[in-house]
Parts: sequence; C-alpha cells; structure tokens
Amino acid sequence: MADYDVIIIGSGPGGYVCAIRCAQLGLRTACVEGSDTLGGTCLNVGCIPSKALLYASHQFHEASQNFNKMGLIGDTPTINLEKMMSYKDEIINQNIKGIEYLFKKNKVDLIKGWASIIAENEILVNAKIYKTKKIVIASGSKASSIPNVQIDEKIVVTSTGALSPKNIPNKLIIIGAGVIGLELGSVYSRLGTQVQVIEYLDHIVPSLDSELQKHFKRILGKQGIKFEMGAAVSSTEIIKNKCRVSYTKRKDNSEHLDEADLVLIATGRVPRIAELNLTELNLNVSDSGRILIDDNWETNIKGVYAIGDCVEGPMLAHKAEDEGVAVAELIAGQKGHVNYNIIPSVIYTHPEVASVGKSEDELKKEEVDYKVGKFSFMGNGRAKTVFCSEGFVKILADSATDKILGAHIIGPMAGDLIHEICVAMEFGASAEDLARTCHAHPTYSEAVREAALACGLGAIHA
Ligand code: NAD
Repeated sequence: MADYDVIIIGSGPGGYVCAIRCAQLGLRTACVEGSDTLGGTCLNVGCIPSKALLYASHQFHEASQNFNKMGLIGDTPTINLEKMMSYKDEIINQNIKGIEYLFKKNKVDLIKGWASIIAENEILVNAKIYKTKKIVIASGSKASSIPNVQIDEKIVVTSTGALSPKNIPNKLIIIGAGVIGLELGSVYSRLGTQVQVIEYLDHIVPSLDSELQKHFKRILGKQGIKFEMGAAVSSTEIIKNKCRVSYTKRKDNSEHLDEADLVLIATGRVPRIAELNLTELNLNVSDSGRILIDDNWETNIKGVYAIGDCVEGPMLAHKAEDEGVAVAELIAGQKGHVNYNIIPSVIYTHPEVASVGKSEDELKKEEVDYKVGKFSFMGNGRAKTVFCSEGFVKILADSATDKILGAHIIGPMAGDLIHEICVAMEFGASAEDLARTCHAHPTYSEAVREAALACGLGAIHA
C-alpha cells in the first residue's frame, strides 16, 4: 500500500500549486521541501523580494524626482537599508505563511528534507522511504556562473546576495543584461549606486522583441545605467573589499578591466537536479541539464513527471504553476493542458516591459505576413499624469485574418496590461475585436485599444 497517490519534490510555484491542485482533485498528496521555508526561489530569493525592493526603490525615486513637480514639497526621505530589508522579509514571511495555510487547508502533507528518488514509486527523505504511486519533480533552478568567477555572496553575488545587501555600494558591476540583471540594476541605480552592465551580446534581454530591446536600453540609459555591450567577462578577482572584472570586447578582442564594490553574476540559471539520484535511475536529461519529458510532462520513467525550471522552456514562475495544475489534472485522470504560445513575460522595471506571443523578429523569420499596430503612451492622458509616457504598445496581427499573433508593451503597468491581450489571444481574437471593446477613460489600457485600432483604420490619438 502506497503512503501517497502523489509526492511532489519542491515547494516553489510549480510544486506547491501542483500539490494543492492534486489534493483538491482528491489525491493523497505530500510535498517535500529541503529548504527551511516553503515557496522556492520565487518567494524566498526571487520574484517576491525583488518586487518588494523594486517598489521601495521606486517610491524613493518618486519622492526625490517627481514629488516636487506635483507641489509636494519637503525633505526627500533618506534610506534606512536595515528597515528596507525588514519590510522585504516581512512580505516574504507573510507569503510563506500563506502557503503553509493552504497546505493545511487542502490537507497536503509537508515532508521536510532533501528528497532523492530511489525507484519509480519510492523516494528517500532523511533516511526514511516514502511509497507513492506518482512522483512530480519540481526542483527548480539555481544561479549559474561563468568560468573563473568565485561567488562569495558578499562581494561577488548572485541574485540571492544582491537581494540582501549589508550596505549600498558606490559601484555595482552586473554581468549579464537579462531580466535579473536589469531588475536588480534598477533597484541599485535608484538607491544611488553607479551601475555598469557588461553584456556578451550586442543587445539586452535576449528573448525580447528587438524594437523593445533598443527602446528599453535607451530608457535605462537615461535612468543612469551604463552598458558595455559585446563584452565577454573572462574572470573576476576580489582584492580587499573590491572586485576586479576582466572582459574582452568581441569586436576587436581587446582586453579591459573594471572594478566595483559589488559584482552581480546574472548570466542565467540552471536546473537544480543534482540531489535527485537521476543518473542512477537512468532518467533522461538533456545536454543542458534539463529533465526530458513527453507531451504529458512524464519522464522516460513511467509515473515520474517533471515541471517548471528543471524542464525545457522559459524559467518563469507562472509557466511552472500552469504545468503544476496540468500535471495534477493528468494524474487525476483529466486532461491537463498548457498553451505555450500564450505565456506572458514581464520585466518589472520602471517602466515595465511585457510580451506575449510572437515577436516581430520571429514572424519575419517564419515569413508570416503580418501587420503592426503601434501606439505611444505619449498619446495616453493617464500615462502623462504619472510621468510615464515614454513607452508604447505594439500589437502584431496576421495581415489576412487580423488574428492577434503577439503583443509587446513598454510602459506603465505593462505587466498587467498584457493580460487583456493574453485573454484575447486565448479566444482567438482579432485586433478588431480588441479595438471594438469599450475601454474606460482615462486608463493605461486605452493604449492597448489604440494599438489594436492602429492595426486597422488607425489610432484616434496618435
Ligand atoms: P538571462 O539568460 O535572461 O540573461 C543572461 C545574460 O547574461 C544573457 O544576455 C547573456 O548573453 C549574458 N552573459 C552570459 N555570459 C556572459 C559573460 N561571460 N559575459 C557577459 N555577459 C554574459 O538570465 P538571468 O537574467 O540570470 O535570468 C535567469 C532566468 O530567470 C531567466 O530565464 C529569466 O527569465 C528568469 N527570471 C525571470 C524574471 C521575470 O519574469 N521578471 C525575473 C528574474 C528571473
């Protein structure tokens, strides 16, 4: 007799959501977590703490830059870093308690400890064997590094160290202009740190539509973030309380040195699977270390599934959550499904950047006949009231059918605006469907409607 119908390894957004849905579907469910707290990277050292610091630093920026313009006169606040960290930690704790509560409410057993899989229906935690009918691996990812770089989480840090600084550095070098580098770079820049980004490629955020890449980089540049593009970092060296970064410019192979008080390694993440005993099980893993799965998220070992950052696809919490729900439904005998064509991605800088569906670059490559509807936030009254009219909404639609194929937004609340387009795309909407939908005035979402109008006869306020 199995102890459980399903055991989920990992309590990040993929794992805990999967566990709750399994329990809701009547399965006897346990979730194993090796860290001291529930919630995985996202909740403890990722999405949630970074959003807290982005919010706090944005408020500081507003107070120092924009309050005066609105007639709000007075001393600009000063930074008490310890208190800022307590605020961030309090948000994390509230969320952890939230998952603990949801586990209790839904009768999900929590097994504390690091799990390894010893057979298709057995896992080992703290020398105890648990028998289960199905296993879901949701073990997440960890920061990757580059050769010749020693991370000490004090002077040379990953996002984990960068989210809990002991003081505000004078200068920060960020290696990698991906999402992590730019979000944390924004935080430090607003707190007064001189931020230098060193990026291997010639553009920022590799996955982004190239028009947004350029526009976004220009905005970040105006905010004071400096970029060294086409530069491959080859090593770092800690000397006293500073770190020296060596890099080579790709265009002419010239060697360069830079130095900072803090260096953030933001060169991507890799699956965290070392503890799981997968090699001994002969469970198939790709060359890049991702667990290989079929269309039903099942590995080559029957009854063992994998979801989230440890499998192929974007390393995004919401993608993991959707996979968690789909696997739970499949295990319960239903039809789980994830629409990978409509997974939004958001960068929580100011302004925010959000995308869904195809980029223009992808449509060109696939030789799709498409049209572009674009609308600048300069024509959006609401955006002007919050000093945030630099961005735009771009909707890409099929030239023949008008069906929306993708959307890209840089502007206020872009991370929320994108979901209107996600829903429209899920229903197979045309740009005209969006354009004919009444949008309240004055809202940022009017810019989405105007971009949809621009796919047809034209925007009104352009
Ligand atoms: P990334 O892959 O997005 O970007 C890493 C960058 O580092 C790339 O541009 C790469 O060219 C550069 N790089 C690599 N080696 C280099 C070297 N030697 N010298 C200079 N540059 C180098 O990685 P990330 O920003 O670390 O993010 C990791 C994952 O976490 C991503 O999948 C990301 O989507 C996810 N994440 C998402 C969010 C969000 O959705 N808001 C937030 C944080 C992280």
